[in-house]
Amino acid sequence: MYSFEDLTADLDELAAKGAKKFVVGRSVFGRELWGIFKGGTDGPQLLIQGAMHAREWATAKLCVRLFDLYDGEAGLWCVPMTDPDGAMLAQFGVSSAPPEYAERLIRINGGSEDFSLWKANGNAVDLNVNFNALWGTGASNVFEPSPSDYVGQYALSEPESRALALFTLKIAPEATVSMHARGEVIYGGFGCYDPLPELARSIADGCGYPLLRAEGSAGGYKDWFIATTAKLGLTVEVGSNDTPYDRLDSQIEELVARTRGILPALAAYYTE
Ligand SMILES: [Zn+2]
Repeated sequence: MYSFEDLTADLDELAAKGAKKFVVGRSVFGRELWGIFKGGTDGPQLLIQGAMHAREWATAKLCVRLFDLYDGEAGLWCVPMTDPDGAMLAQFGVSSAPPEYAERLIRINGGSEDFSLWKANGNAVDLNVNFNALWGTGASNVFEPSPSDYVGQYALSEPESRALALFTLKIAPEATVSMHARGEVIYGGFGCYDPLPELARSIADGCGYPLLRAEGSAGGYKDWFIATTAKLGLTVEVGSNDTPYDRLDSQIEELVARTRGILPALAAYYTE
């Protein structure tokens, strides 16, 4: 497990080592969307983001590890747990939510109190289809509250997606990396955009993952970043499909080994 408290403690430790810890925004249930930064703000900036999907909470731990290992020349901004409410729900069930939400959440979860496969935020919106990039046109989109794939009432309706979008515009990174699970694949490009395909391919090769286009993808953070800036956005799907989501954190060293080259490769490209 990797709770919101575990994350907060890890970020405090990184801050004690000199990183800058800050709040990007707040979740539906009022939790901090923590951010952490290292490096200089004058040159190129990079952003890595994790746990946008509740059940993929292990990617928050992975982001923290990759941040800690990074010593490239570009400034590095990390938002490790973009959906803290969902991440807590997936790990600890409905007792982690405010009591007034419990009945609704269980109803949306088909009457079950097992939230381990929950993907959405506290409002039952899937944050990675809530961004304004061909919003509502994705192949798997759902149009009512659901454990996964619900696009929300309108684009950027959710405090978490809105905060991440506004924050991204503010820091203007050269590239964004979104850590998801599972599939051992990297997705790049969006619609008619395919920024820096050779850089994307060499990063994918470094991880030993294939680089694919996500056909039918819309409303994702990567989609939004590429469509808004025409810069490089990557979605990295770690972990094999045989690994249950709640076992991914026991493979964290293997996942770190696979993906630790991504940020240094980006930093080298943009600072050379
Ligand atoms: Zn995901």
